[in-house]
Amino acid sequence: MTKTRVAFLGLGAIGTPMARNLAEKGFDLTVWTRTSRKASEFAAKHNVKFATTPAGAVNAADFVVTCLPSSVEVEAIANSADGILSGIRSGTMLIDCTSGDPDSSKRLAAQLKEKRCSFVDAPVSGGVVGAEAGKLTVMCGGDATDFERARPIIAGFGEKIVHCGPVGAGDAVKALNQMLLALHIWTTGEALAALVRYGVDPAKALEVINGSSGRSNSSMNLIPERVLTRAFPRTFRLALLDKDVRIAARIAKDQGIDSAIFAEVERLMASAHEELGEEADHVEAIKVLERLVGVEIKAT
Ligand code: NDP
Repeated sequence: MTKTRVAFLGLGAIGTPMARNLAEKGFDLTVWTRTSRKASEFAAKHNVKFATTPAGAVNAADFVVTCLPSSVEVEAIANSADGILSGIRSGTMLIDCTSGDPDSSKRLAAQLKEKRCSFVDAPVSGGVVGAEAGKLTVMCGGDATDFERARPIIAGFGEKIVHCGPVGAGDAVKALNQMLLALHIWTTGEALAALVRYGVDPAKALEVINGSSGRSNSSMNLIPERVLTRAFPRTFRLALLDKDVRIAARIAKDQGIDSAIFAEVERLMASAHEELGEEADHVEAIKVLERLVGVEIKAT
């Protein structure tokens, strides 16, 4: 039986373990990433093929998976001279795992339709740890038949796979999830700063909160593992969270939800991103909060 041919574009922090899972699950994989050396090293390590252009990666593929920083880069590599649209064959499906912009996904889906190709937006959640384990949550937008066709590929790296609605719906759910993530990081940080000032050990405070109704992924995992320890590993760039909350705030506004809280989170993430730069991790936003309030949230 011939293997399903998958082109994977974008070997970043999360794309690399996703592509590795597809290679290990036996798909006929070709990888491309902007830095060619990374693609050739990945191909040698995992016994797959690599291409030096997006067009070269996709021209023999049944499915193309993209995982780039934002929809800006996805549209750029779709439309460049040696890009996806110049190389893609009729019948191929593009599965975009970028945390993208719904309007951009709709534009790209329309361009692909002209070439008799299909599109599913399929952003992921679960972080690098979830990607390593092949257990990501994947939220999808597209026609029901396209979603069912994409499912076996997505199952190569996903565990919970949900069809959220038409093209753009996966991006919309992801963006609003990210708004909640940013909100939880910041407000849990503020709550802990207040409790530290009050004289409570933040580890004790989290022990209580995590057995109570104020808990979240931020209180249960991110802050104990990364802030209290001062480890701050770099797994998901703050720049990307800033991009996500901007998309989320715009979606909410377009739907008539004029949220003062969303607007404030958008402002906070933009200013933390500006202060900490392009490579800072998203949880490092807490360092900005600590500077503003003059309290360090660390285990005593
Ligand atoms: P990274 O910043 O680590 O990597 C992004 C990839 O995009 C790299 O392979 C890089 O190529 C490539 N790239 C960057 N700029 C360009 C460009 N101008 N043109 C073409 N390619 C470019 O991002 P992540 O892997 O962390 O994230 C990818 C997507 O997944 C984002 O949308 C993010 O929001 C989302 N996401 C990330 C999570 C995480 O934990 N990291 C969790 C959930 C979702 P190269 O390295 O070859 O130069």
